[in-house]
Amino acid sequence: MRDPRYDILFEPVRIGPLTAKNRFYQVPHCNGGGYRDPSAAAEMRGVKAEGGWGVIFTEQTEMHHTSEITPFIELRLWEDQDIPSIARMAERMKTHGALAGIQLAYSGINGPNMYTKEVPLAPSALPIRTFTNDPVQARALDRRDIADLRRWFVNAARRCRTAGFDLICLYGAHGFGIFQHFLSRATNQRSDEYGGSLENRSRFVREVVADIRDAVGDTMAITLRVSLDETIGDLGFSNAEVRDFVALNADLPDLWDLAHGTWEDCSGPSRFKEEAAQEALVKGIRDLTGKPVVGVGRFTSPDTMVRMVRQGVLDFVGCARPSIADPFLPLKVEEGRIEDIRECIGCNICVTGDMIQGMGRCTQNPTWMEEWRRGWHPERMNPKGPSERVLIVGSGPAGLEAALGLARRGYEVAVAEARESFGGRVARERLLPGLSAWGRVADYRLYQLGQLGNVSLYPASPLTADDILGFGFEHVCLATGSHWRADGVARQHVVQIPREGALPVFTPDDVMDGRLPTGTVVVYDDDHYYMGGVIAELLAARGCNVTLVTPAPYVSDWSRNTLEQGAVHRRLAAAGVAIVLNTGVAALQADGVETNCAYTDARGRITCDAVVLVASRRSETAVHDELRARADEWADAGLRSLALIGDAAAPAPIAWATFAGHRYARDLDGPDRGDALPFRREVTALAPA
Ligand code: ADP
Ligand code: SF4
Repeated sequence: MRDPRYDILFEPVRIGPLTAKNRFYQVPHCNGGGYRDPSAAAEMRGVKAEGGWGVIFTEQTEMHHTSEITPFIELRLWEDQDIPSIARMAERMKTHGALAGIQLAYSGINGPNMYTKEVPLAPSALPIRTFTNDPVQARALDRRDIADLRRWFVNAARRCRTAGFDLICLYGAHGFGIFQHFLSRATNQRSDEYGGSLENRSRFVREVVADIRDAVGDTMAITLRVSLDETIGDLGFSNAEVRDFVALNADLPDLWDLAHGTWEDCSGPSRFKEEAAQEALVKGIRDLTGKPVVGVGRFTSPDTMVRMVRQGVLDFVGCARPSIADPFLPLKVEEGRIEDIRECIGCNICVTGDMIQGMGRCTQNPTWMEEWRRGWHPERMNPKGPSERVLIVGSGPAGLEAALGLARRGYEVAVAEARESFGGRVARERLLPGLSAWGRVADYRLYQLGQLGNVSLYPASPLTADDILGFGFEHVCLATGSHWRADGVARQHVVQIPREGALPVFTPDDVMDGRLPTGTVVVYDDDHYYMGGVIAELLAARGCNVTLVTPAPYVSDWSRNTLEQGAVHRRLAAAGVAIVLNTGVAALQADGVETNCAYTDARGRITCDAVVLVASRRSETAVHDELRARADEWADAGLRSLALIGDAAAPAPIAWATFAGHRYARDLDGPDRGDALPFRREVTALAPA
């Protein structure tokens, strides 16, 4: 049962006219599904209700058609016909006594209106500020527009009540919500009663809160989400001014929801930010108000959560990513199962669901956003099928997740790993700069496997096809991973990179194996996610003179989708790494590399002692291929199925591997679905012609 030192986390806390059953507060977070996949998004929230969260919020909800952020997919509440899909979400949120909250966003200077084609409206006439630098400007709201906007908020609030929500969060954080745009002198350059002094800049939010309170405040609570620091210096809404604002408006909302400046700041990845990284910015704000305060900080440790409450920093422990990685976090604390918490690793792959408008993924929780689509529950597997024994070859994220899923279903599972230690790529990558938290992918699964009696783990066991055929397993799953190519094949070079002379060539695997280049080193990044930047950082720390060359316009280009790119660039620049963008490596020469401009092919040279090729990876399929070729021996060996999953099937980020492992575990002994789509989806209903 629950450790008494966590009791404080389970105290009920009042929010305006309502009471939350505990202090676990799932702050609004996007998921990539939004209005396109309403039932998938609703069920994802419903699973969190089951997992014990006291307050559960939607993602941002576009509350009026004059402000939307296409191409990003959030929720929409533009008219009554949007109510049923958000009502489904509210209904799922409230199933286990949680309060259901909806975040209303009017995106102002952040909404380019690419879908509705409306002229964007903002406090001041300035260019729209988006990730995509859309060539669109906003018109400044005049007094009539402000009156309209206040009415639109009331209309939206009434629709929220009809949909069954308990709380309304007014979004004024991350640079995304109009309340911040009014509060900040950077985006509010008005000279009327809505601009200038802090009191004037606060006028709009005061009016909207009063309007909504009049309309629905008897039954609903109103929360205000503001940035802790706009991080653009004195001109922006600084932490000092946030404190003045709270002091001036202490009782304005029923709860203060404090988030950091930009989304990049707020959702800092573990590579750059520790747990509770916002503590200094939050501390003391609670003393300025009689209303409860929630803050975030990638909280995964209940001890840190308790400290936040005991020390009076926060009343509610706000979690987005930790609630994605483990929707059952509160229940596990309540049941005294701390070791069972599947801790967020802070990789921000979940964020890519929103950034790419795909379907959200989580490295640690492969069931995320598949709760409705595939019927996957984060804590419960489907029942065991008729077969008994499964061999998993490889103990990377794919192999360990497959083993865990199968063992939970009740199969006898054996995991064979060639290396001395388990964990595959994460056992190696966790030793790279900034990636230690990623080791939790292996730690969580190995601990869980250790609790089960039907799993055998075999380290230092490189298996051959002969070995495998000799064992007599009914099912064999090869999760044998991949290795980095040394021939430079990736995107720029589809065949081996031209090479003259004997320039020493290294790969990330060499570096992880401790074979490091010395002296002046070119890191050639044609992979574009984290590895190139991480290797450059490591080599710079070891005293190499490093130049990172990439054909992309950004260093670690894809990490823009995990909100890390700016931090990667800053860290490399601080480490003295020379960054050469829009430039390929055309050829390797005896004493350096020949470069080429990505646009003009203009050639250049960089003299160096060695090059690290961060190109692509080659799947490890030899054992699989041999077993396939020997299919006529399967029957005698008792082998009924053979699978290839994870990086061994096709290299990708770790989240792809845990997904593949989970899917394998779910599907074993399942019906043959033939050509049918393997998940449910919603198709837009046709209006009458
Ligand atoms: P994934 O990301 O798909 O899980 P990893 O590269 O992390 O892949 O893990 C693959 C693991 O499989 C590595 O630890 C590797 O040592 C192991 N492995 C590869 N080939 C064999 C083999 N023939 N027998 C046992 N283990 C193997
Ligand atoms: Fe945490 Fe990564 Fe999962 Fe996001 S994807 S919740 S950062 S483990």
